[in-house]
Amino acid sequence: MKTSTIVAATVGVLTVATIGYAIYFDAKRRNDPEFRRKLKKERKRAQKLALEEAKKLSNRSAQTVEEALASIKDEDFPTSMEEREKFCMEQLSAGEALFTRGPQNYAQAAICFYKALKVYPAPAELVMVYQKTIPSEVFTLVMGMLSKDVQSKQEKYYTVFPPEDMNVKVDEKPEGVTADGQKVTRRGLVVTKAFTAGQAIYSEVPVINSLEPSLEGSFCHYCLKEIVQESAVPCSKCSQVVFCSQDCKDAASQEFHNILCTKNSEDADSPERSLYEYTKTTRNLVPEMLAKFLVKMVHEESMNSGAEYNSFDHMERLRYLEIPPSDEEEKEMELLKVALGSNIPGIDEFITAERYLLMKGRLLYNLYGISTSLDTDRTIKYLPERQRSIRDAPITGSGLYRVSSYLMHSCEPNTKIVFSDHDHKLTIVATRDIQAGDELFVGYIKNGKLSTEQRRLELFTKYRLQCMCPLCETTD
Ligand SMILES: [Zn+2]
Ligand SMILES: [Zn+2]
Ligand SMILES: [Zn+2]
Repeated sequence: MKTSTIVAATVGVLTVATIGYAIYFDAKRRNDPEFRRKLKKERKRAQKLALEEAKKLSNRSAQTVEEALASIKDEDFPTSMEEREKFCMEQLSAGEALFTRGPQNYAQAAICFYKALKVYPAPAELVMVYQKTIPSEVFTLVMGMLSKDVQSKQEKYYTVFPPEDMNVKVDEKPEGVTADGQKVTRRGLVVTKAFTAGQAIYSEVPVINSLEPSLEGSFCHYCLKEIVQESAVPCSKCSQVVFCSQDCKDAASQEFHNILCTKNSEDADSPERSLYEYTKTTRNLVPEMLAKFLVKMVHEESMNSGAEYNSFDHMERLRYLEIPPSDEEEKEMELLKVALGSNIPGIDEFITAERYLLMKGRLLYNLYGISTSLDTDRTIKYLPERQRSIRDAPITGSGLYRVSSYLMHSCEPNTKIVFSDHDHKLTIVATRDIQAGDELFVGYIKNGKLSTEQRRLELFTKYRLQCMCPLCETTD
């Protein structure tokens, strides 16, 4: 019997993958964003290929794809490394045996190749092998199945996010029409059950947050709580930051501080210190927050929590502010590269101007001002960044929140934000009775005694937002 071409072609890839695969791959993932970047690029290439191939499907083949996917919908795939490898090889041989027996077996062959893809650690590589070795009709079917898969992951997002116990879901809402009459929609948060005025709807902690720099040392660097001096836990490596508890210290060092700590370096231009110095002098928190975000991403991946979507998937879907590139962003990008470069190899290539502006735009659009001061009369100079806040209490920091990013502004909101534990945990409280299915609104700006004109100007400058709330509509 002639040696199976697919198995032969795959063996090379598989050997790399199996000899200490787990260790190799895991260590690589943990330490090397360059490697992850490559993986991502390959994945993108494979997805694009899948999409192109799926377009070639005739009506009949499209039906074949649906049927094939339905037939294996409830199938369990092996989880251990050895089992996966064995299963993968079996499917590859079976697939090849099937297609050599003729076109009547192509659909069955495609199922086998698709199953092999599902368990193979580097599916994008396998796709490239398939492209060279299996008949194009079978390849198109496999890619059709893969393309459906990718599509359903996209569509599934808002069915699993936000988590059900938060009592809200993301819904499409109309947002006017374009000049040529096209309907524009936006996403908003609606409640899944009724609430009465005063009731808390949900709480969440931020993905990342930062303290107003002048408060460093008297507020917790992790949860932004005001420090009661007796219980302060200082960083063991630097004298710049303090934590309110051992838990906060541990969480911070795991998530970002072990990399971002100045370690009391003397040199203000050193990689350890440059970002800290910049934040302190400019009070611009954007680069620090993005640095925390990127470090946290690497940490999250290494934890391999099994979560279907990671923080990047969440961030990617958020609305953003378009920012024209300027010298400021050049400087910020440079700082990030210096601060992270020695710890996250590949960060130089990762931070392109385009990606940086997009990440910054997402922060600026979605950040909330956090108020944790125990003393409500305390005067804290407002952070120069834009952040959503009605400023009824001193703002001690800024945070990016997954779910609350979807809250729309209204000048007469039906909820308010409270920081009831005086830390970064944000709680949305109903300010009037709310029916199931109603959209939730917060105030993005301090609206107090502002006229409609002033509010419009501020909302437009900060968020490119044309408020359609009852107050703005009636005072036209
Ligand atoms: Zn804390
Ligand atoms: Zn430190
Ligand atoms: Zn309004």
